[in-house]
Amino acid sequence: MISEKMKKLVGGSSAIRAMFEEGKRLAAIYGRENVYDYSLGNPNFPAPAAVNDAIRAVLDEVDSTVVHGYMSNAGFDDVRQTVAESLNRRFGTAFAGKNILMSVGAAGALHVILKVLLNPGDEVLTFAPYFVEYGNYVGNYDGVLRAIPVDAATFQPDPEALAAAVTAKTRAVIINNPNNPTGVIYSEETVKKLAAVLERKSEEFGAPIYLLADEPYRELAYDGLEVPFLTKYYRNTAVCYSWSKSLSLPGERIGYLVLPDELDGAEEIIAAASIANRMLGFINAPSLMQLAVARCLDCEPNLSGYDANRRLLYEGLTKLGFEPVKPQGTFYLWLKSPEPDEKKFVEKGKSHNILMVAGSAFAWPGYVRLAYCVSEDMIRRSLPAFAKLAAEYGLK
Ligand code: PLP
Repeated sequence: MISEKMKKLVGGSSAIRAMFEEGKRLAAIYGRENVYDYSLGNPNFPAPAAVNDAIRAVLDEVDSTVVHGYMSNAGFDDVRQTVAESLNRRFGTAFAGKNILMSVGAAGALHVILKVLLNPGDEVLTFAPYFVEYGNYVGNYDGVLRAIPVDAATFQPDPEALAAAVTAKTRAVIINNPNNPTGVIYSEETVKKLAAVLERKSEEFGAPIYLLADEPYRELAYDGLEVPFLTKYYRNTAVCYSWSKSLSLPGERIGYLVLPDELDGAEEIIAAASIANRMLGFINAPSLMQLAVARCLDCEPNLSGYDANRRLLYEGLTKLGFEPVKPQGTFYLWLKSPEPDEKKFVEKGKSHNILMVAGSAFAWPGYVRLAYCVSEDMIRRSLPAFAKLAAEYGLK
């Protein structure tokens, strides 16, 4: 009974979700404490107390018909203005409220901008390995996602590969930084080179190529590393942000889309984005959460907690003879499979109650992803299971 398009989507449904369900099944058999579930990027730390305080304060202080009512499709004007000012303080930009559209998470922001930009058959490029949902998001607007492999040694995007991949049909490039699944931060040097390629190619094909910066992990950067703010490097950049990860609010579905005045066609794009937010059925971002996050713009994520997990897992796995990529950001660790077929490695892990996601799910076989937004205690308890897994491969 379902549409042909949907049939394909159901068939290719998420390997990450499947692993999450598997975790629940194993926990029912072996007990939750004996299952080491590294499958899902669902933050384990509670949202900062300031968020709950802000929600209560909004409910106490703001007229209920405002808190629970409709507002402009792009969001509350004062919230958009406050977000713009916060970005300007942090990144030296000059946004106004009109440049911000409050969205249903980063996913909602991506949907709005893709809806605004894509004609059927338009290409969107991204760098593999990549967040699997991009293909579905782009497909929703009859676009075609094409992935360009990153440099296999550094996991940084290769500007020459980008230059070679752009065609007359390329409408946009999605960059996710810090990166899910590799945990790598694309450096300023890389970003400058990518921007130069996009300038050149936009000119060559006589049409702007838009850069979509997908940044739900922006604040999760370790060792003092900077995550370049892309509007400063490339004029035709739209930023998709959310508080899902930084403030542990993934279920609240709150984020924003930045549409700078410098975009080619900015006025039209900004107007169309509001309409797209409505047409997609979002109507507007959740109103209580808009009002609450506007009071929490200076809230910090639990970076030290994630950093402790990062070190524990990275060092633990390295000592056992595994070859993890040292995460620079996010809460994901990218691990080389000890055998070429990483799906077999994932299966062997499962036999020790370790749940990892196969790199094939990110268009990059031979690696697996571990989400370490889990309790430190679970990581400690999982290390003996990893030791048994390492022994199966004769590591160390
Ligand atoms: N982009 C990437 C790279 C992600 O990993 C995720 C969620 O895991 C999203 C977008 C969607 O985030 P949100 O919950 O803000 O919609």
